[in-house]
Amino acid sequence: LTYKLARRGGTLAKVPAPNTSRRCSACGFTTPGSRETQALFVCKNPDCRWTGNADHNAARNILHLYRTGHALIPAAGRAVARRARRVKPATAR
Ligand SMILES: [Zn+2]
Repeated sequence: LTYKLARRGGTLAKVPAPNTSRRCSACGFTTPGSRETQALFVCKNPDCRWTGNADHNAARNILHLYRTGHALIPAAGRAVARRARRVKPATAR
């Protein structure tokens, strides 16, 4: 993504990856069995049962993490790579 942004512009925000593919983007319920196949996500919460494309579900979770302030780096890509020297090592990841 970094090299693609360098070519085309844009902003890259990294968020914590754990459970983004196992959490239901509709209700937040997280369990390993919800991803029934590589492509299919079925929420195991009896009150939810949201079903959809597994990658779309993960993308919604990632967007939600970004929008709720969980980005690991506020902005990335070429512009931030130049500024990386001023970022503290613990927050640079
Ligand atoms: Zn759900």
